[in-house]
Amino acid sequence: MISTVLPTYNRAPMEFVSGKGTWLDNKDGRRFLDLGAGIAVNALGHAHPALVEALTTQANTLWHVSNLYHIGPQQKLADLLAEHTALDTSFFTNSGTEACELAVKMARKYWFEKGQPERTDIITFSGSFHGRSAAGIAAAGSEKMTHGMGPLLPGFVHLEFGDHDALTQAAKSPSVGAIMVEPVQGEGGIRPLPDACLKGLRDLCDEHGLLMILDEVQCGVGRTGKLFAHEWAGIAPDIMMVAKGIGGGFPLGAVLATENAAQGMTAGTHGSTYGGNPLACAVGAKVMEIVTEPAFLEDVNRKAGLLRQKLEGLVAAHPDVFEEVRGSGLMLGLKCKATNIDVVNAGYDHELLTVPAADNVIRLLPPLTITDDEIADAVSRLDKAATQVTADG
Ligand SMILES: *Cc1c(COP(=O)(O)O)cnc(C)c1O
Repeated sequence: MISTVLPTYNRAPMEFVSGKGTWLDNKDGRRFLDLGAGIAVNALGHAHPALVEALTTQANTLWHVSNLYHIGPQQKLADLLAEHTALDTSFFTNSGTEACELAVKMARKYWFEKGQPERTDIITFSGSFHGRSAAGIAAAGSEKMTHGMGPLLPGFVHLEFGDHDALTQAAKSPSVGAIMVEPVQGEGGIRPLPDACLKGLRDLCDEHGLLMILDEVQCGVGRTGKLFAHEWAGIAPDIMMVAKGIGGGFPLGAVLATENAAQGMTAGTHGSTYGGNPLACAVGAKVMEIVTEPAFLEDVNRKAGLLRQKLEGLVAAHPDVFEEVRGSGLMLGLKCKATNIDVVNAGYDHELLTVPAADNVIRLLPPLTITDDEIADAVSRLDKAATQVTADG
């Protein structure tokens, strides 16, 4: 008989009942060091006192009113995002997938209003991930996600990651209106787009008048050591998708846009019952306040250097298990020679949580609040896990 929860996930045989900082306690009383952070979501760790306070204060005040009215915490979060990015306006969603939906609609509507309704196509790249909705899977276009799900939403041009010639060619097409890309691919296996490529993409968009849509759902909100990953390249997008870390564990996403890119989205063109609700936005505003303190990101960068250095040592010590360290900031991947799932499972045996990704990679996405001692502890657990994988292999 089918389980009462639709079986779309291959779940590890574990259930966590509470968390604090970088640690999670399971039902059997085992304590795990969490380098997955709920897939880059718990950016400030579990049960961060300031987030618990923001949520409970809001919960005691006002939960939901709908977007028929002005919502104070939503306005506050929108102001913070506008203050700390080059983008002017935000629409709030409950997830990254919903952010993708709006980004696609916004790009299409932009060109429609510009009198070029034929520019419906959005260029996307192999290995990308933009969510599991009909638009999200059509955007990414991988066989794994789209198999049996057709007919797919039209309007996406899929290019090979790194194929510059195909890109230059596609950008000239009169039916193309935008490019959508993750500055660091997450699900695709922690594949950063080099700064020069991101700059090149920006130039290409400017040259052909295309909208640059950045999906910072996984790499944003301090994860790479800048508030948003594209800042490393010194460029700014026209439209940006945000989710995961922004809610610190509370469901929250957003689409940010320049005034120009958002010009088609007038009253009545989009909506959400829950999007931008007081609870989510109160937490999101608190996350933003904490992550935008200059000392916070300085510390993320320092710790990222420490973790990376230790991981390089780990790879050198286990050349049969690992191939290389990749990624940016505290969004790191270990490309494996052994099977990545075996390494993740061996981690469980040593009370360590990591997350598998495509391209035979394991992802390390710790809370940005991880301490130096926890970094050392995590690498020593990875070392034990790797030794075990070698012994089992
Ligand atoms: C997780 C993710 C999404 C989808 O977000 P959900 O909140 O799961 O809907 C979209 N894009 C990227 C880059 C992601 O990592």
